[in-house]
Amino acid sequence: MPTLFIDGQWIRAAAGGTREIRCPADQSFVAIVDEAGAIDTVAAIDAARRAFDTGDWPATPFTARAALLHRVADQIEASSVEISRAESLDTGKRLVESEYDVVDVARCFRYFAGLSASGGRVVDTGNPGAISRVVQEPVGVCGLITPWNYPLLQASWKVAPALAAGNTFVLKPSELTPSTSIILMRILQECGLPAGVGNLVLGAGATAGAPLAEHPNIDLVSFTGGLVTGRRVMAAAAATVKKVALELGGKNPNIVFADADRAAALDNALTAVFLHSGQVCSAGARLIIEESIRDEFVDDLVRRANRIVLGGPFDPLAQAGTLISRAHRDKVDAYVEAGIAEGAVLRCGGRAPDDLGLDAGWFYRPTVLDRCHSSMGCVQDESFGPVLTVETFRGEDEAVAIANDTIYGLAGAIWTSDASRAQRVAGRLRLGTVWINDYHPYLPQAEWGGFKQSGVGRELGPTGLGEYVELKHIYQNVNPAPSGWFATDETGGD
Ligand code: NAD
Repeated sequence: MPTLFIDGQWIRAAAGGTREIRCPADQSFVAIVDEAGAIDTVAAIDAARRAFDTGDWPATPFTARAALLHRVADQIEASSVEISRAESLDTGKRLVESEYDVVDVARCFRYFAGLSASGGRVVDTGNPGAISRVVQEPVGVCGLITPWNYPLLQASWKVAPALAAGNTFVLKPSELTPSTSIILMRILQECGLPAGVGNLVLGAGATAGAPLAEHPNIDLVSFTGGLVTGRRVMAAAAATVKKVALELGGKNPNIVFADADRAAALDNALTAVFLHSGQVCSAGARLIIEESIRDEFVDDLVRRANRIVLGGPFDPLAQAGTLISRAHRDKVDAYVEAGIAEGAVLRCGGRAPDDLGLDAGWFYRPTVLDRCHSSMGCVQDESFGPVLTVETFRGEDEAVAIANDTIYGLAGAIWTSDASRAQRVAGRLRLGTVWINDYHPYLPQAEWGGFKQSGVGRELGPTGLGEYVELKHIYQNVNPAPSGWFATDETGGD
């Protein structure tokens, strides 16, 4: 079956290219999908442009758009088994994690279905003869580019608000994990999305993705992915001064004070960094711990990390899964090697597992690099793998200074039993999300995004919808009359 969806049709790539998808946990065959080139992406942009400029969708009442989003959420829930399985096969993540993701995807569509973008406000003109309104309108054609770690979830954070606000879009998921985006487009089609409103292109970033940043007919590019690619997208978008929203990487601090609930802090320090084998933008990959408790805490943490059971997506005993590719595992391994060369002490992991049955996958043991400090590359750079660096502090000021000593500013946590300190430190951290005595929860109602080089703009929440909205000021003089600013024929001039 063709897998590009352009102008309401499932089609093959113009040049006939295809790509084979294999499960990273065992290299089993998953699918052959079409590989778009720039020509296909431009065709998708043209279709989305026509649908926006001449179609009904942008002017469809919000209630009708919201009804469609609710139907999509219903269908996602009804297809949960198929979607979770497809997500796990593409990413290698444990089935239970994919199942959680599908629940969140449906929740995201319902949230934006309930958040009207058709409002506006009346402005006091100070003139009884004039009416002034600021109204919200859709931005136009949106280029949506997503990564491989949470393929459908990241797509839903963009597709749902884009549609709620009345835009048309071209979605380009990661070339490594296309399956659930294909299912999403099928669901949108079944739920009655008009032709051209939603389009899907699959393929490599440099070919299928680049036109979404460069093309003059794209009004907004919303990108989630790595910092280097994000800079490239932003630079390309500058040529046509399009709106840009970027959700990039993080190197996130997890600060543990000596007065924290030790059992909770320890358990969550493991989840913070090793969930999805560290392939989470908000992973708590920097443990910043008060010096007085560090030895015992880190010893316990290493003991627990050594016991984490790795396995494939459908192994009920597995607690963590594989990395996405051989190239990514090589990158993580090189990062660990470089950390050791810089003086970090390897406490556990630092290698692929020896377990029988895992040798065909790209697994990597949970790794702890001890005795780190913020001038080291392994602390500054995102590994995007199961690697924790350990730094220590004495006192609140030093904890804050160490945590903020990074180009990133996505998320992080504070563990303490002192509520006023928790609030004080939260206020001083330059992060888009701060958790206190918890790690990882997010809400569709609360904005998600980064300070500093972790991104531009926000997803989720009312501000997330705002990325997909343009504001227009409409001023009407209800009693038109000459302004008298310049001389009239009667009052002078040559
Ligand atoms: P990536 O930057 O390699 O790729 C992301 C997407 O961009 C893919 O679809 C890719 O094909 C596309 N792309 C690549 N080059 C392009 C170009 N020149 N023009 C247009 N598109 C291009 O990232 P990845 O490896 O897929 O994902 C991992 C990264 O994503 C990590 O850095 C992680 O922190 C980040 N991430 C951030 C968030 C967040 O919410 N801030 C969420 C998830 C992942």
